[in-house]
Amino acid sequence: MHVESTLTGCKKFAGIKSILLCPAPDMTFRPQQLERAMLLVLLPLFAAASIVLALANMLLGTDTWFERYQLIPAGGAFAALWVWCGFTRSNNVRRIRVVALLLGPGIVMERFLVGLWYTANYGHDVQFLSSLSVWMILASCLFVFLNPGRGAFIAGFSYYSVAVAALLLFLTLKDYPVSDEFIHEFLITYIVGAPIFLVLVAGLARLRLAYGSALHKADKFESMAMQDALTGLFNRRVFSTSMRRARARQARRRTPVSMAILDIDHFKTVNDAFGHNKGDEVLVKIANILTATMRRTDDVFRWGGEEFAILMEETDAENAGLVCERLRQLIEKEPMLPGRKVTASFGVAELIAGEDDSSFFSRADAALYDAKDLGRNQVVIRRKRRPSNPLVKPISDLVDSTNFGNPPADKPNGQA
Ligand code: GH3
Ligand code: MG
Ligand code: MG
Repeated sequence: MHVESTLTGCKKFAGIKSILLCPAPDMTFRPQQLERAMLLVLLPLFAAASIVLALANMLLGTDTWFERYQLIPAGGAFAALWVWCGFTRSNNVRRIRVVALLLGPGIVMERFLVGLWYTANYGHDVQFLSSLSVWMILASCLFVFLNPGRGAFIAGFSYYSVAVAALLLFLTLKDYPVSDEFIHEFLITYIVGAPIFLVLVAGLARLRLAYGSALHKADKFESMAMQDALTGLFNRRVFSTSMRRARARQARRRTPVSMAILDIDHFKTVNDAFGHNKGDEVLVKIANILTATMRRTDDVFRWGGEEFAILMEETDAENAGLVCERLRQLIEKEPMLPGRKVTASFGVAELIAGEDDSSFFSRADAALYDAKDLGRNQVVIRRKRRPSNPLVKPISDLVDSTNFGNPPADKPNGQA
């Protein structure tokens, strides 16, 4: 059995295609998936930007040797991070994000400080500070957005404050001649614009956190509504969904679908003799045997009390019967209680085209009743249609008549 959340949304989440082209109903994705998608888009852009800037610097030849070449390893590092991200699952992008956050904003800050230092010592044009300011703000916002929590807001503000402090220090210490235009721009960008952006992005980051935790809760409630608390199996509410999927596959591939219902024999006496807790342990052990034996495509349900149901795709009644016979033997052999065997009876039916869920279930249930009537601890298949043949057939007859596997195991409760 596997619980698959219906909230999972876009499964093949691959970068820009998912952000821009994913149709609206599939846009329910987890924050980690969004983060991975963003990194898959941003990292190659950063790599390309670094390389293009480095080439431009080389062609223009205006900067120092260090400034000309430093962006080449940075571009390589972004490209490597991109490849790393491509091979990493959404849950594990945290490390990539941290490295990207150290690298990107680190380079912007380094260029800013080195630029200031050059300006102070060699009298560069202070204009470069304006062009870098956009990147400074972007880098601070990235800090805040990609690192959830209050720490990120402080980190983003500190990062940006370092730049402002360095700039102010430079202007006061060097008494650098700056134009009114520059002062104007400085005020708008650093004093008004950046804090507004940071607060906006911090709000978005909190929304993102709230969205993440709402999804997490929705997932939890969804699986609580779908799963049985004791055994972790699907509960019967999921049956109609599973049936819908099974029917769709049956129609598409023209393959049979079968169902088995199993009921533990004389379970009341287990509770009476060993107590309710031991009874619960038996239920869990049987659930484990079922999940360990069934295929991933089969759905196992705790139908209620000590009754279980199994929906098997691409399986006809005969094969479903053989699977149940194996389960019956496994349950019988499993030591569950001191000095007492636990056995179960199985009813099997194959879906008839056009049959509704309740009739399908009723036929499997009727087969289960037959198994109980025939003496319990056995598998009975309810035939699809056969007015001329007997309607009910114990699996032991089938095994004997067609020579499948070994002869049936002992039937302690006396099988017909
Ligand atoms: P049969 O072979 O005819 O199926 O006999 P049975 O005693 O198993 O049948 P019945 O349906 O009368 O009894 C089912 C019992 O399962 C009754 C109840 O005490 C027990 N049961 C139902 N749910 C649980 C549960 O969650 N935990 C435990 N320990 N027992 C449960
Ligand atoms: Mg029972
Ligand atoms: Mg019962």
